[in-house]
Amino acid sequence: MLRSATSRLVALYCLLLLTLGAVFLVFTVSNFRHYTREVIASNLSIRAAGVWSISQNLLNQPVALAAAIQSGFSPEVQNRFIRIRYGDRIIFQSGDPADGRFKPSLIPMDDAANDNARSIGDVLLLSRHYRDPRGRPVVVDIGQSFYFVHTLERELATSIFIALPILLVFAAIGGYVLMRRALSPIETMIKETEAYTFNRADTRLPLVRTEPRIEELGMALNRLLDRLSRAYSHASRFSADAAHELRTPLTIVRGELELLAGRKNLQPEVETAVANALEEITRLSGMVDSLILLSRMESMWGKKSHAPVDLRKLAEDTLVQIGLLAEEKQLRLSGPEGPTVIVAGDPDRLRQVLVNLLDNAIKYTPRDGRITVRVGIEKDRGFISVEDTGIGIASAHLEGIFERFYRVSPDRGEIGAGLGLAIVKSICAAHGGEVTVKSELGQGSIFRVDLPLMPAGEHGALPSF
Ligand code: ADP
Repeated sequence: MLRSATSRLVALYCLLLLTLGAVFLVFTVSNFRHYTREVIASNLSIRAAGVWSISQNLLNQPVALAAAIQSGFSPEVQNRFIRIRYGDRIIFQSGDPADGRFKPSLIPMDDAANDNARSIGDVLLLSRHYRDPRGRPVVVDIGQSFYFVHTLERELATSIFIALPILLVFAAIGGYVLMRRALSPIETMIKETEAYTFNRADTRLPLVRTEPRIEELGMALNRLLDRLSRAYSHASRFSADAAHELRTPLTIVRGELELLAGRKNLQPEVETAVANALEEITRLSGMVDSLILLSRMESMWGKKSHAPVDLRKLAEDTLVQIGLLAEEKQLRLSGPEGPTVIVAGDPDRLRQVLVNLLDNAIKYTPRDGRITVRVGIEKDRGFISVEDTGIGIASAHLEGIFERFYRVSPDRGEIGAGLGLAIVKSICAAHGGEVTVKSELGQGSIFRVDLPLMPAGEHGALPSF
């Protein structure tokens, strides 16, 4: 239920606060009770001594005694209880208290009790034992209504009870916000790591100086990115160098084979062998050219070209170019549908993107299928899409098809080298754009290229790749 460390930590410290609050409540209330009891008991003791000092000379004059006590202590008004016992007679007993909280007649006469204060209902009672000059016992019972203390106790407990949940809510919110703030550098790292691509290989995670462990994690990840991008550029350089090295010998071999193929009087089996070799060499040369183009594109990643390219016009021209191929397979080519869209780019490279996508659409769409090209603008970016009703691509392959040499199933007679879409991706990245695909097996595919629009009024320098 509480999956995140933040929620667990907040829950734990709310629980701790709750326990602390409960301990505090019990401790405060019992301390308060003990303290007020002590204070009242000590007051009662002083008052008992006062009562004794007034009454010791009036023990045999009940009326005068009553008057003296009333004038000195006015027990009823003060919600107090005073009783004086002389021998086995009660010579004075105060009346009902003003707050009516106890009945004086119901307060027991407990002769065995020691000098400690004791609670009788809502009354705290203290009995003091004296002797008159003739040695007869005199007991002064003096009591105080304890009701107001109980009320205070209840109110204190209620206030703590109400304040505690409010405090808990504030503590939980405060704790959550603090934790989120403390973890926000990690959120940023996650976002940056998710957005990391080799198109922006020099991007590194931002480092936070506030939390040493998080900073160390950031530095460790940055070192990992350093190693990865070094390995990646090493691999790219290797394939680029290899392609460059292969280009010249391949051109020579191709030239020689073409020469040979042009000869007359070749034996039929030699002629077939030369034709086959020429076909393979041509395919290899194409692959080498693609690899060289890929490495050139990679060096352009992130550096945008600024020539205005009309995507609609580009699509019209390319559809005318490629129309023959589609006709051969009796495919219906339609489009371009959509408005005029001017993006910033290199027209030759963008044409190559469209040619590769259309070439694939034609290759992987069976006879009588349909291919539609659309252009448009969405979220401040221009797009061009190629939709076919072909064989489609299983979702497991959708990520891989943009990798170099990736082919879904080479054994089903696919003749390409698996470089077409890698080139599309690289050209898009070099333009600050991206290529995406939606496809369903047996239903068809939609490849879509999104590119930055040409900023209004900018038709300046035309650097090409
Ligand atoms: P190739 O040049 O060999 O066609 P690509 O990089 O262009 O290589 O494509 C990679 C793989 O993606 C292909 O092998 C193919 O299986 C699949 N693919 C590409 N386009 C389509 C499409 N329109 N319909 C179905 N599969 C496709």
